[in-house]
Amino acid sequence: MLQLHQFPCLSDNYGYLLHDPASGETVCIDTPDADTYLREAAIKGWTITQIWNTHWHADHAGGNEAIKAATGCTITAPAGDAAKIAGVDRAVGQGDTVKIGEFTGDVIDVGGHTMGHVAYYIPRAAMAFVGDSLFALGCGRMFEGTPPQFWASLSRLKALPGETKIYCAHEYTASNAKFALHADPYNAVLADYAREVEERRAAGQPTVPTVLSRELAANPFLRADTPEMKARWGGKEPAETFAALRAAKDSF
Ligand code: ZN
Ligand code: FE
Repeated sequence: MLQLHQFPCLSDNYGYLLHDPASGETVCIDTPDADTYLREAAIKGWTITQIWNTHWHADHAGGNEAIKAATGCTITAPAGDAAKIAGVDRAVGQGDTVKIGEFTGDVIDVGGHTMGHVAYYIPRAAMAFVGDSLFALGCGRMFEGTPPQFWASLSRLKALPGETKIYCAHEYTASNAKFALHADPYNAVLADYAREVEERRAAGQPTVPTVLSRELAANPFLRADTPEMKARWGGKEPAETFAALRAAKDSF
């Protein structure tokens, strides 16, 4: 089975090293900081062979060149963002696949935070690396895309199996929970979830990964297509309800 090493990086990013013991391959999911990644790989005794970037922001691709120079790894990055990402060997988009050993990852277009943002979903491991598209109890800021685009992106993630573990790129859950409780105040699943987040953070524990089924029940952005969210936030289409939620969060 694949092994995942998760570690804090920069101020609130998570670093991920994905290792396949059978082939000896190791993939960096994004590269917030080259030194941290190289050090963590060395501690594990893993040799980095690939980088999979989710989008072009520096806290996701800033370590590409230094890690490639140190290891000779190959870099896979989203086609839509590739012009802004250093060292890209292969540009990918919706429907493409990536490989670590015998494991296949599906590339999913989750544009909206940036135009080209992609997620990497490994069905056999029930893991999705979603960068800054979906967060625990939140979603990424819409820097480049449009509400219909971002909603379509989230809908692609919503369609994954409920047991999928969601590895997002930041520990933003506690502040996301505050907005979620404001957005969806009568949601009992959310209330329980928010309490648990508070406890975990008070104990210094991560709240990532989360599980898709739980996000489907509690994340207000994934619930933009529910009658409750429509009644509270308006919109004729889910994309409009999503737009209202996203705008409200931006100024919350
Ligand atoms: Zn970002
Ligand atoms: Fe980020």
